[in-house]
Amino acid sequence: MDLFSQNCPCCDSAEVHAHTRYTTQSNGTRTIHHCRRCDSYFSDTFATAIAGLRTPLSRIIEVLKARTEGQGLNATARVFGVSKKSIIDWEWRLSELKPTLLLYGLIHQFLSLVIEGDELYTKVHHNTPASDSEGWTIVLMERRSRFLWELDCGSKDEQLFEAALSLLCEVIDQTQDLTLLSDGERRYGKILFAICHEVIHNGQPGRPKKRLPKGVRVRLKNKGARKRSGRKRPKYQAPVAEHPETDSKIDNHQIHANHVEAFNASLRRRNSAFRRKTNMYAKSRDNLQRTLDVQWLVHNFVRVHFTTKVVPAVKLGILEIGISWLQLFTIRYAL
Ligand SMILES: [Zn+2]
Repeated sequence: MDLFSQNCPCCDSAEVHAHTRYTTQSNGTRTIHHCRRCDSYFSDTFATAIAGLRTPLSRIIEVLKARTEGQGLNATARVFGVSKKSIIDWEWRLSELKPTLLLYGLIHQFLSLVIEGDELYTKVHHNTPASDSEGWTIVLMERRSRFLWELDCGSKDEQLFEAALSLLCEVIDQTQDLTLLSDGERRYGKILFAICHEVIHNGQPGRPKKRLPKGVRVRLKNKGARKRSGRKRPKYQAPVAEHPETDSKIDNHQIHANHVEAFNASLRRRNSAFRRKTNMYAKSRDNLQRTLDVQWLVHNFVRVHFTTKVVPAVKLGILEIGISWLQLFTIRYAL
C-alpha cells in the first residue's frame, strides 16, 4: 500500500500518462492523467481531500493548523476571515482520511507494543451530568512511539469500549507481544477478553480454558487503597487470564499510564472542544469526532512529538519521514 501512489485509481495500473494540463484559479496548474489500460481519465486531485476546492491550499493549511493548535471555530473564522462552514467542510474532508491511514498502520507487523489506555471527558452540545455526556473519549496510545491507535468519543458505555478494543484486537493480530496498561476503567480487561481470546486444549477433562492470546498482557490499577482486612492491595492487577506461554513479568515501575495522561493534557490545549471551564462545546458527537480525527491524523503522521522529537508514525516504524500538510492533501481516500 503506497499512500502517494501515482497509479490509476481505477485499475491500479502504472501505465498512466499526462493527458492535458489546466490552470486553476488559485492552486496553479493541474494535470489530467489518462490510463492506457482501462482508458479512464482522472485529475491530480481525484479522491483527495482537496478535490473540487477553490480556496488556495496554503490558506486552508494555515486555518487547519490554527484549529489543531487549539483555536476555537468562531475565533478561527474571525481571524482568517473565512466562514465557519468552510472550516467545518475542510475538517470533514481531512477527517475522512483517517480510515485510509489507519488501514496503512494495520498492514504493518510489530515486534512489541505497550499500549496505555485512558478516557477523558468533555461536554457535548450542553452541560449534562458527566455520566450522560457523549463526550467520553477513549485514548489508546503506544508508549514508545506515542502513536495513537484509538481516539474515539461517545457515551461511556459498552459500545465505546467494544469499538476501541476491537481495534486493539486488530493490532494484536499484527504483534507478537502486546501489553495494555490503564489506570482507568476496569472494563478494558473484561471486554478485551470477551472479544479476543484463545481456547486452550490441554488434554485434561472438563471444559477447555479460555486465555488471552499468546504474548498479550493486561494490567489495571487497583483503585481503593486497602482491603477490608487492612492489608494493602498490590497497585496493579492482571484482571484476566493470560496464556501459559506469555511472559507475565512486568517491572512495577513500567506499569503506568503517564504518557497517555500527558497526551490528554495536550488534547485539552489543542482541541478547543476539550478546554475546561468554557462554553466551547462541540455541537454533537459526530462533530466532536471530526475534530478528534483531525487531531489523530496530525498527531500521528504530521507533527513532530515534543518529547521524542520524531513524528509518532516514524517512531513506530511505519513511515520513513513524516507527512507534510501539503502531502496530506495528495493522499487518495482508500476506496
Ligand atoms: Zn486504469
